[in-house]
Amino acid sequence: MKTVLFNLTDSELEQFVVDMGLPRFRAKQIREWLNRGAPNFSVMKNLPIDLREKLATVADTMPVKIIKKLESSDNQTTKFLLELNDCEQIECVLMRTTYGNSVCVSSQAGCAMGCKFCASTLLGLKRNLTTNEMFAQVLTAQWELRGDKLKDIRPNGDANNNDVSHIVVMGTGEPLQNTQNVIGFLEQANKELNISWRRITVSTCGIIPGIDALNAWGRPINLAISLHAPDDELRTQIMPVNNRFKIKEVLDAAFRFSDNHNRQLMIEYILLGKKNSDGVIELFNATPEHAEKLSDLIRGHNVMVNLIPWNTVDERDFASISGNAVHRFQDILIKNGIHTRIRRERGADIGSACGQLRLKNAQK
Ligand code: SAH
Repeated sequence: MKTVLFNLTDSELEQFVVDMGLPRFRAKQIREWLNRGAPNFSVMKNLPIDLREKLATVADTMPVKIIKKLESSDNQTTKFLLELNDCEQIECVLMRTTYGNSVCVSSQAGCAMGCKFCASTLLGLKRNLTTNEMFAQVLTAQWELRGDKLKDIRPNGDANNNDVSHIVVMGTGEPLQNTQNVIGFLEQANKELNISWRRITVSTCGIIPGIDALNAWGRPINLAISLHAPDDELRTQIMPVNNRFKIKEVLDAAFRFSDNHNRQLMIEYILLGKKNSDGVIELFNATPEHAEKLSDLIRGHNVMVNLIPWNTVDERDFASISGNAVHRFQDILIKNGIHTRIRRERGADIGSACGQLRLKNAQK
């Protein structure tokens, strides 16, 4: 296996360079490229070409390698299929928005959670990602935005619009099954890329000890809970994790976190339909009664409900519901005084359902 230079400490990188018979200053040059997310050695313009070629035979730059890059027709969304050193595959998505550039990061290769509507979990969990493997996803997006141009910070401290400004840990995997590495990664992103805590969101299906660990960590990031059902009976049908952690306890832990950090809690709620035996789509978790029950759970708390139209996953027997049904659901929340938004799905044409790209590739 080739050495991944990004994973070496400064002194290890220097030793590596010296062992190749090169002067020490090459280590510093290489490090600068690695910190910008250089996808290969050929971009390292200040190294002699024969050295770049020699390095490529013995080493890799980053712990993730782009094997596919898809641009959405909206021109704002880029999806990367990335390969890790042990050939596992993960996804990462760059979304250019009016408020900044957001990267959706995967925390595990695969997922063990078994949610019935999701593609990420269909092939099971492969393994946790390391801190560097998560950080390298952000640098991959950063390179896409900026290439070899140096990061320039404006006098007021704001990064310009060619920088990653937001991180959402909402890719493949359950971040709170890999909490310590996720924390390490976010510390790195905050320190090295200047990404403020308030522009970071971690999404979980509701692992209570993990939420408590984030609370103890103490950084004022945003927390999102994938709720998707307003009562335990229904939730257990679609999310096995609900056998272990019940809705009320999950929400209590989440409210503790958001109150503690004075942040608005995000509740993610996919609106699911299901075909009955006559082929008619019935509302699964999206009736007016469900909307009322959901309101009762969160009324009086500082919460934003993010309503997510379901992305089709062929292997899953759910169905999308009509725009009218989505709005009827939302109107009830609004009537009950609850903040709510409908998530604009990005890049549906490039498989925006989580895990879809990795899955398709694995099945080939
Ligand atoms: N495991 C974490 C991180 C994944 S976040 C969590 O559960 O929060 C990915 C978000 O997309 C979650 O809210 C997830 O429930 C949602 N999602 C999964 N499959 C989807 C689909 N087919 N369509 C729309 N959203 C989906």
